Amino acid sequence: MTVEADLSVPGHPEVFVIGDLALFTHQGPRPLPGVAPVAIQEGPVAAENAWRSRRGLPTRPFRYRDRGTMAVVGRAAGIATIGPLRPWGAPAWIAWSIGHLFWPIGFENRLLVFLQWAWAYLVWKCGPRLITTPWQPGEVGPTGRTSAGTTRGGSPGPAPGGSGPAAGGAWGKPAPDG
Ligand SMILES: Cc1cc2nc3c(=O)[nH]c(=O)nc-3n(C[C@H](O)[C@H](O)[C@H](O)COP(=O)(O)OP(=O)(O)OC[C@H]3O[C@@H](n4cnc5c(N)ncnc54)[C@H](O)[C@@H]3O)c2cc1C
Repeated sequence: MTVEADLSVPGHPEVFVIGDLALFTHQGPRPLPGVAPVAIQEGPVAAENAWRSRRGLPTRPFRYRDRGTMAVVGRAAGIATIGPLRPWGAPAWIAWSIGHLFWPIGFENRLLVFLQWAWAYLVWKCGPRLITTPWQPGEVGPTGRTSAGTTRGGSPGPAPGGSGPAAGGAWGKPAPDG
């Protein structure tokens, strides 16, 4: 949904939309991407603007601060841009993992995420995958069987079967049921 510069809905200054649901076009030539940092930064601004709106005060425009980008592209493989730095491979993967272990709120959530990742790493668990190309005859899927297409992207987590073709071959390690 397209939002105003203060994250309110056009024609409804009392309603605010953030995160993946918000199409923010007031900064730069392209809309802000649907990623977690955008959603996280939008939250407090929307809350403050809702508070201000309710009291008849002028709202303030949202401004996204790009502090860098990180992504996991496979088992122990990551890429990142942090200012002038462009780490990749295991260092970027470790940086991603540490960052995402600290961002969840509360010790219990962090512990849960850590245990899930550790388990996924040990058992070569595959993350979600997106089918982006038509099926090719003879193509082999993650179970070792012929699949319905090639995939891209997937879980950002260090789920070891990987997050797509970059992870240990086209599909990571095939499961033993193939
Ligand atoms: C596979 C995948 C990989 C991604 N990788 C990255 C990445 O590496 N880095 C990154 O920055 N971003 C990544 N993203 C994008 C990131 O997850 C989103 O941009 C971010 O989560 C958006 O936050 P949000 O609060 O808008 O929505 P969400 O995080 O989706 O939160 C919405 C919440 O609302 C709940 N909800 C839905 N309907 C209802 C209802 N009717 N009542 C009550 N609750 C409801 C949902 O259960 C959910 O908890 C990825 C997304 C996907 C799908």
